[in-house]
Amino acid sequence: MRKGLVVQKFGGSSVANVERIQNVARRVVSYRNKGYDLVVVVSALGDTTDELIELADKINTGASEREMDMLLSTGEQISVALLAMAIHKLGREAISFTGAQVGIITDTSHTRARIIKINTDKIKEELAKGKIVIVAGFQGVTLNQDITTLGRGGSDLTAVALAKELKADECEIYTDVEGVYTTDPRIEPRARKIKEVTYDEMLEMASLGAQVMQARSIEVAKKFDVPIHVRSSFSDKTGTMIIKEVKRMEDVVVSGVTLNKNEAKITVCDVPDRPGAAAKIFKELSGSGINVDMIVQNVSHTRKTDISFTVPKAQFQKAIKITRKAARNISAGEVIEDQDIGRVSIVGVGMKTHSGVAAKMFEVLALNKINIEMISTSDISISCIIKKKFTEDAVRALHEKFGLGKK
Ligand code: ASP
Ligand code: MG
Repeated sequence: MRKGLVVQKFGGSSVANVERIQNVARRVVSYRNKGYDLVVVVSALGDTTDELIELADKINTGASEREMDMLLSTGEQISVALLAMAIHKLGREAISFTGAQVGIITDTSHTRARIIKINTDKIKEELAKGKIVIVAGFQGVTLNQDITTLGRGGSDLTAVALAKELKADECEIYTDVEGVYTTDPRIEPRARKIKEVTYDEMLEMASLGAQVMQARSIEVAKKFDVPIHVRSSFSDKTGTMIIKEVKRMEDVVVSGVTLNKNEAKITVCDVPDRPGAAAKIFKELSGSGINVDMIVQNVSHTRKTDISFTVPKAQFQKAIKITRKAARNISAGEVIEDQDIGRVSIVGVGMKTHSGVAAKMFEVLALNKINIEMISTSDISISCIIKKKFTEDAVRALHEKFGLGKK
């Protein structure tokens, strides 16, 4: 008897070597034996994608994005074939496919393509034959037959999109941790696994530094209301459910504390206080594909003002060059760089209905003699930029103060 359709996604660490691939195969087969139809999405083995990028860099640091996609998509092609073989060895029928083969059609923006549509006929045909269908994550194909990839961590997106398109009963994301935690357990051993978290909180946590799932995949899950179960491929424990709404006790204000050390800060001093000055700087930056994040500017009392903003470390060298040039063009002053920063954030839907959360956060930092350099807020998060050496202490102190630790 058919029990329902489950989409399972296994990340790179879950298939990093032969034993782990066999472990995944056993888990998949045990689900199949319970009577579920299964679509399994896999990432590239371990650090394969990073290694392929390094390899390409050695050949040509300015490799074309089309060829990068051609190269990177091979990682997942290896995984699906090996997993199919491992399942065959256990005596079950399985068939592997690339993204192109199952009709994951994307736009033409190579290395960060967007899914336009998925043709599920082929998958359904194979499921009907009783086979376990294995799909290469992270990839698709344009209408022109060019292979594309969906951005780093894109296998999550493949899984969520397939779950939506196939109307799956469950979408499970298997990883090397047991779920989503109140903070990184490597920084705070008292961190707790969260039972349920909303899409919005998860999105916020992902973009603020939690590395559980690709942010884009959560956006899609939210848009189509696909519930996600994040869990470990090394244990049978229930993980974390990512869902629309969570019933919590009233006093839960903050659900998690995140840390991001991958940003750098740039300050342009003495920007002339006239319309269009800031626009010039940020237009130049965005024109070069630089992702500016937090921006702070104060009103000026002297007809000049400082503007500070953060950019991803990987884009820092490029960003500082562009900023220096733009600053000269608008007759601003010095441009100061600071790579020695980190962002600590608190996230929680409870903030919408509670006041004094920001004050409490700043107080915790003050008590620990930590100076705040920049602040930004959203509906459900507050972030502070502080000196990097204080970030881990700050995470632990906030985690404690907002009552997140193990009881
Ligand atoms: N292998 C790709 C990456 O490392 C996709 C994924 O892991 O989801 O980004
Ligand atoms: Mg990976």
